Amino acid sequence: MQPKELLDLATTFGNPLYVYDADKIEVQYNRLTSAFAKVEKLRINYAMKALSNISILKLLKNLGSGLDTVSIQEVQLGLHAGFTPDKIIFTPNGVSFEEIEEVAKMGVQINIDNLSILEHFGAKYPKIPVCIRINPHVMAGGNENISVGHIDSKFGISIYQIPHVLRIVENTKMNINGIHMHTGSDILDIEVFLYASEILFDAAKQFKNLEFLDFGSGFKVPYKKGDIETNIEELGKKLTKRFLAFEKEYGRELTLAFEPGKFLVSEAGYFLAKVNVIKQTTSTVFAGIDSGFNHLIRPMFYGSQHGIENISNPKGKERFYTVVGYICETDTFANNRRIAEIHEGDTLCFKNAGAYCFSMASNYNSRFKPAEVLWKNGKGHLIRERETFEDLLQNQILIEV
Ligand SMILES: *Cc1c(COP(=O)(O)O)cnc(C)c1O
Repeated sequence: MQPKELLDLATTFGNPLYVYDADKIEVQYNRLTSAFAKVEKLRINYAMKALSNISILKLLKNLGSGLDTVSIQEVQLGLHAGFTPDKIIFTPNGVSFEEIEEVAKMGVQINIDNLSILEHFGAKYPKIPVCIRINPHVMAGGNENISVGHIDSKFGISIYQIPHVLRIVENTKMNINGIHMHTGSDILDIEVFLYASEILFDAAKQFKNLEFLDFGSGFKVPYKKGDIETNIEELGKKLTKRFLAFEKEYGRELTLAFEPGKFLVSEAGYFLAKVNVIKQTTSTVFAGIDSGFNHLIRPMFYGSQHGIENISNPKGKERFYTVVGYICETDTFANNRRIAEIHEGDTLCFKNAGAYCFSMASNYNSRFKPAEVLWKNGKGHLIRERETFEDLLQNQILIEV
């Protein structure tokens, strides 16, 4: 999107503001489906924890996407947005047995990543087919918070425990209809992904009634020019070839599934915030914005470096700024970053703000969560109102003390 378009939206809807470009989401969705066009049955399940606004869900549904969910509330939001249960997969970790039961009864595909739950579920519901999440013990890249396939990870059933899974299946007569892995975010090297896929294929051979193989996600997106990103097109070529060969070997047609979050929505998002103060110190120039980690926590949580543009002065001479928030703790968005000259009152635009940004926002410091706008057909559509003081009071009870 152009700086002028974004600035106009900030004027119309106020700051701070999240803006999502519908076209970019569509481009990314089509890139993935084109890369795997030779696969007869391809299923993309959008990992909605990345960005869960129901209008975004509906947009993805209209593109043909399914949903990957991690809580019963996400399932309910998905149903509300118009997804049918058969288009949803539930991939929880560490949730209660009752929650899994409840979701299964809605007709949603269950993905289990724990032996004790598998045994309990198989004994109680031998007729409900289940997918199992394996842990291939491969380090795919990314930082320790988001890399989830390695040996110490709490996710998935270890491939070394497959014999145990087989025993449970035999004892309970339950049906395993899918095998899943998710190696975590930020796949730098597709060879590592393909290596992990071999482990998935190996595990799959042990199960006779599979309908789908789910390769998870973790595709890396660029944050700035020259950044390494997962080469989806090359992955498509190589994995398709291997998948088709596996299907022959397995003896029946299978669905190939992915569950991308970041890949579909990261680059489509922009976070806009006004500069309250410019503060020249002896060491740097601070630009203090009208927001903080209550609205965008990724730089502090993951050390992610979001591109920042001064959309009020996009052609201005660049200077060095340290961009900080208004929270009463250190909340630095960027250190000594080159940005077009900033004046108090200017609006800054943070890039790659579609995934894990609004969905991780909080009311810390008793601030309102921002509004969200969907940019479609050259127009901004409000898809979430800015919170108000009533929202802060909602559910609180003032007692006599
Ligand atoms: C979070 C998550 C995803 C999405 O990961 P991205 O890096 O955003 O693509 C996919 N699958 C599972 C099981 C997840 O927990």
